[in-house]
Amino acid sequence: MNPEETQKLIIDESSIARQLKKGFERLRFDEPGVEAQFRREFVRDRLKRTRDNLFLALSVLLAFALADVLVVGEVARTGLYMLQFGGLLPVIGILIALTYHRRPHQMYPRWAPWLSGLLGFGIVLVDARASMDGIGALFSGVLVYIMFSSFLLGLLFYEALSVGAVLWALYLITALASGLPESAALYNATVLLVTLIVATTVNYSVEEGIRHHFLERHQLREMSTTVVRDGLTGLYNRKAFDEHLNRHWAMAQREAVTLAMILIDIDFFKRYNDEHGHRGGDECLRKVAQTLARSARRPLDFAARYGGEEFAIILYDTTREYLEELSQRIHDGLSALSIRHGASEVSDRVTVSMGIAFVVPQLERSAGGIVQAADEALYQAKMGGRNQTFFDNETSYAAMKTGYFRKPLKAA
Ligand code: GH3
Ligand code: MG
Ligand code: MG
Repeated sequence: MNPEETQKLIIDESSIARQLKKGFERLRFDEPGVEAQFRREFVRDRLKRTRDNLFLALSVLLAFALADVLVVGEVARTGLYMLQFGGLLPVIGILIALTYHRRPHQMYPRWAPWLSGLLGFGIVLVDARASMDGIGALFSGVLVYIMFSSFLLGLLFYEALSVGAVLWALYLITALASGLPESAALYNATVLLVTLIVATTVNYSVEEGIRHHFLERHQLREMSTTVVRDGLTGLYNRKAFDEHLNRHWAMAQREAVTLAMILIDIDFFKRYNDEHGHRGGDECLRKVAQTLARSARRPLDFAARYGGEEFAIILYDTTREYLEELSQRIHDGLSALSIRHGASEVSDRVTVSMGIAFVVPQLERSAGGIVQAADEALYQAKMGGRNQTFFDNETSYAAMKTGYFRKPLKAA
């Protein structure tokens, strides 16, 4: 197989490409890691605008309260004010605070639907309280809020739909309980339902478009990086690796998530070349590269040829379980390929050793630290007898002395 074919295979087999080819149903990606990556980017892309929208909501609420005082000029509706200021403002405040959280992509989507529902319920109560005082106009607030939570709170389709449906039911119950005539309550509930259906329909097609755009953008990125791919294996080259590492190191620091690096080295590869010839060695490198690309195919799994017969994978926001599973998948994938190795001391087939560094990037450390940690872990895997994986976890990373590099294997 020539390098172009290898590269095409690697790009075609990425989870993004597969998802794009088979499409998606009911606004959900089922290829590994794609849904999670989509959600992360969805929050990240909208965070600033969502925050602005929340500040807008805060201003509108304050303006209405002020207008009430100036126009009505009495504090007869104390109960109403209590509800508005004691109930609605703090919830908006919490939502705004969440957008400033250190890990907004985790915290915001987890709490926003609940808080949005709570806020809506507060508005329903304000309306009910007002209609008990004979003021019917506040129902429009409920309508406006349905629009607001559907379009401006940065919720996904299903979240917005759930919030809307719950609010609709709460409205109907509250309106009937507050003594609004049944016909008026039903009429209002119908208006609310129609609004909800319109918002839901729009939201569905908008999110469908956003999801398509997400897949296409990622595939374009995968394809347009042809120049930074390694000629022999089709994996990303060292230059692309360095750039990716630096960029994701900074991003992981900002978002306070984990970053992992796996360094993979073919066992007794010098002897493989001696035994099977340099061209045979090249072919072996391609097969190993394909196994790596096939194993690490979540959107942010980044596999590169690190140099010679060493490969590296960078994993963003991952877990130890996933790393263990992935390294096992690589060992298994290679043994399934069963490439004969006539001169290895550990097996009659080609095997690899892997070193894994798994860290939460710290401000005072540079990206070089994770490479060093992975390198030391790889050294341990080689020392342990090759054809195995060694983990370097965060604790030893924290204790690591910078500037300490792998001792030459030959000396050991
Ligand atoms: P160990 O198990 O300790 O990793 O032993 P090793 O022989 O794999 O390690 P060493 O670093 O001594 O040898 C790496 C060999 O990889 C040496 C070099 O000839 C070979 N190599 C590096 N790049 C290429 C390449 O592009 N093609 C081929 N065919 N061989 C390569
Ligand atoms: Mg080596
Ligand atoms: Mg080697």
